[in-house]
Amino acid sequence: MAMSASKLDRSGVLVACPSCGKTNRLRYSTLGSASRCGACQTPLSAPAEPVEVTDAATFDALVSSSALPVVVDFWAPWCGPCRMMAPELEKVAQDAMGQWLIVKLNTDAVPELGERFRIRSIPTLAIFQGGRQIHSAAGARSAADIRSLVAANLARSSAA
Ligand SMILES: [Zn+2]
Repeated sequence: MAMSASKLDRSGVLVACPSCGKTNRLRYSTLGSASRCGACQTPLSAPAEPVEVTDAATFDALVSSSALPVVVDFWAPWCGPCRMMAPELEKVAQDAMGQWLIVKLNTDAVPELGERFRIRSIPTLAIFQGGRQIHSAAGARSAADIRSLVAANLARSSAA
């Protein structure tokens, strides 16, 4: 399986410039806004791929300050349905570029977050907006179902 080219740290998403390869940090607070590579000025966008979250502090920084909604895939390497859903999430991330961010959280690697959000089965998708969780749903889904789940909940959240 291809490793994600993007990484997260406490203040932003680290993305490689598609033109010159330099690593740039897109701050969570301005994610989705226009930004350019610091070295060559090529326009950069939020990652068009799911990005792995590897610790709770990074997760908290992301969901508390992200300007974009964040969709979290709680998964584990031994979970068959999770592996089936992985390519579906990749498709969704390609289409969602700049609208929301998709991150993957391995509940074996970061068990404290699975406990905090009371994840009882995986895969579970949780949607965060404005620093709070607005929805969570267990079970594997197709790309089309993931898109409609997220769109419906974001629409409901912004209408409330
Ligand atoms: Zn560049």
